Amino acid sequence: MTKRAFKLHQQMPMQLPLQAPLQTHLQTQDALLIVDVQNDFLPGGRLAVPQGDAVIPVLNHTIDLFAGHALPIYASRDWHPPDHCSFQTHGGPWPVHCVAGSHGADFPAALALPRSASILSKATAAQEEAYSAFAGTDLASQLHAQGITRLFIGGLATDYCVRRSVEDALSLGFTVLLVQDAIRAVELHPGDGKAALDAMLEQGAGLVQWRDIDPSRMEGPD
Ligand SMILES: [Zn+2]
Repeated sequence: MTKRAFKLHQQMPMQLPLQAPLQTHLQTQDALLIVDVQNDFLPGGRLAVPQGDAVIPVLNHTIDLFAGHALPIYASRDWHPPDHCSFQTHGGPWPVHCVAGSHGADFPAALALPRSASILSKATAAQEEAYSAFAGTDLASQLHAQGITRLFIGGLATDYCVRRSVEDALSLGFTVLLVQDAIRAVELHPGDGKAALDAMLEQGAGLVQWRDIDPSRMEGPD
């Protein structure tokens, strides 16, 4: 390491989101992104995430906070054609899931998505896989148009679509607060969920519980 690099390194210590105080008052530049909370990813679904349904009440509380402050809410969904390349029937890694228009692709009835929520359909073409809510959607331009700079993110699954969405949001320059009690992992391999969480934190995501999100006041830009 050169002297200069060492100095820079000293000036920019690795981020420690768990120790740094997070500013969790909702702000006018905040939006909520709910990733792929769909019937097929819930217990009983075709690609069930263990305890995937546990995110629903937490997300409903979070939706209430955002809707109460008229802050934008986005919900992404897998919206696959029946011959999608990610399906085992077509050489992919996953069982058939979230076929566009099917019950499995629907948002669960228990998820209290407001009518005003923006829906982002992804991986809609047979040969296109998309884990991230930003991949092939106009999410980034919608956020920019609304002046959003910070995203609270929850949904399914921690080790795939949540992770990719968080990574894309960070690389696009958004501040990301991951709502820890609103995510669950597939854990295809044991430890995948923790590894994904560690990777997201290392890349700069902050971690909050929904109860940390302070609804008592909302701050505008300085
Ligand atoms: Zn999929």
